[in-house]
Amino acid sequence: MTKDYYKILDITEFSTQDEIKSAYRKLARKWHPDVAGNSDDVINKFKEINEAYEILSDKARKADYDTARRFYNYASGTSEKKETASTGNATNPNSKTSTKKEETKDSGKKFGFSFNWEEILSKKYAEMQMKNEQKKNAPKRGADINTEVEISVFEAINGTTKTINLLQTHVCPKCGGRKFVNGGVCKHCNGKGDVTSYKKSTVRSPEGIKDNSKIRLAGEGENGINGAPSGDLYLTVHVAEPKNYKTDGLNILKNITISPYEAVLGSEVSVPTVKGNVLVKIAPNTRNGQKIRLSGCGISNKGREGDMIVTVEIQIPTNVSNEEVELYKRLREIALKGQI
Ligand SMILES: [Zn+2]
Repeated sequence: MTKDYYKILDITEFSTQDEIKSAYRKLARKWHPDVAGNSDDVINKFKEINEAYEILSDKARKADYDTARRFYNYASGTSEKKETASTGNATNPNSKTSTKKEETKDSGKKFGFSFNWEEILSKKYAEMQMKNEQKKNAPKRGADINTEVEISVFEAINGTTKTINLLQTHVCPKCGGRKFVNGGVCKHCNGKGDVTSYKKSTVRSPEGIKDNSKIRLAGEGENGINGAPSGDLYLTVHVAEPKNYKTDGLNILKNITISPYEAVLGSEVSVPTVKGNVLVKIAPNTRNGQKIRLSGCGISNKGREGDMIVTVEIQIPTNVSNEEVELYKRLREIALKGQI
């Protein structure tokens, strides 16, 4: 890149035309040779300011310049040298080169500036730009996305449908990643060149899916560029460890604990099931290990319904109060009496 016109006018790529104009006026006043003197430095600076304004105030030329500038910023480092080397090649006949030099000198003296974009756009430079353009327009398949989802053991057995909400970044559809539309900053992406949005994908996990299974959703990955196909979405399914449950076919097995007095006197215990909490009646004189069947509270699959089988465990209290100890002693007395 020959010159950074934005730097010269001390503005940014996103400055408005009014801002460009006002920046130019301020600098032109400051650097006018009538004010700043007639030194070569001042004349060059003044010329540069005019040159920058001439390009940046013209929408079409600004758009061309922006494209070139972005490319050069992208390929920075090597660009300066390459351009110096290529200037000679571009203006082939030697006579022409000298004429141009004179013209530049003249315009400098007059402070009037006639700038020709083609002058800067050397052959080599144009070639590089074209290559870049081709690269930009080359179709590129969208990236694959890997993500994870957790399902319950019941969902794994029955199969389930999950909606995955993925934040995706893709090339702005309005400007095609060029950041500018008709010489102005693309309003759709605010000049970023890409946009992020949520993409919803609905995933059906098949019946009996195993933990850590992968589901591939073709075309649900990142969008492709320039007509290329989208990437795929790979979903790793984690089956959550069931808490306090076991399964046996369609039946769900669960242990519940009751105290000795509940076992003797009977009780009611609330048990969470797939159909919500169910109040389970513990009959008087329930034995340890006794099973209670809750019909239809198991896994349903293809019209069949399993049961929940609750196994009662009598839990011996660990922290017994003095009062309870006295009562147990009383129980012992009664029991011994009964034996006699
Ligand atoms: Zn855009």
